[in-house]
Amino acid sequence: MTERILPLLPSTRRKFLWTVPAATLMAGSSISATPILKEAPMTERTLPPLPFPIDALAPAYSRETLEYHHGKHHKAYVDKLNELQKGTEFESLPLEDVIKKSSGGIYNQAAQIWNHTFFWNCLKPNGGGEPTGTLLAAINAKWGSFADFKKAFVASAVGNFGSGWTWLIKKPDGTVDILNTGAAGTPLKSGEGKALLTVDVWEHAYYIDYRNARQKFVETFLDKLANWDFAMKNFG
Ligand code: FE
Repeated sequence: MTERILPLLPSTRRKFLWTVPAATLMAGSSISATPILKEAPMTERTLPPLPFPIDALAPAYSRETLEYHHGKHHKAYVDKLNELQKGTEFESLPLEDVIKKSSGGIYNQAAQIWNHTFFWNCLKPNGGGEPTGTLLAAINAKWGSFADFKKAFVASAVGNFGSGWTWLIKKPDGTVDILNTGAAGTPLKSGEGKALLTVDVWEHAYYIDYRNARQKFVETFLDKLANWDFAMKNFG
């Protein structure tokens, strides 16, 4: 059996396994004779680009923060997953399936890739403000007002001990809630609900611009950065 690796899309390489039946080899036939083509897709993970120019969120979220947060931290998760998944069942799976089926190191890297990509989409230049429509109605039904939701979200993020993420989720019953996850935790894995919006509360997310002031960072996220269009689309 020989293997050929053919370059296709930049983000994906597919490993074609040319399998020759044993009986054919035993009969002395050459490998080029009537091979059975088995395709085993191998996914080389790549760092997704930011959905906005790198300096577009400044000064609320600086170019330097994004150079480190996206260019180094997010990229490191991508590089590490490519290293860890080699030769495992996970290298051919879509990222979301890796998150659902893996544990340990592979899960941590995969979930951090997904969480960060989701987080970039939760940010936009001149963001903040309030959602409208059914999402605003669901928030008002849960917390009474958007102002009270903001207070609860900030308090939850500030109280999320150590490194983690604070999420607005849509629960299976259609109502909304705030969820704290630690480390690489993600609602995609826990099944507690569908992610609508998140803020990264690892220190690497805010230390350059806000030093240790997590509360100020989360308040600024809600006031100036949050992409409610994205959250409303996720709410459906
Ligand atoms: Fe982060």
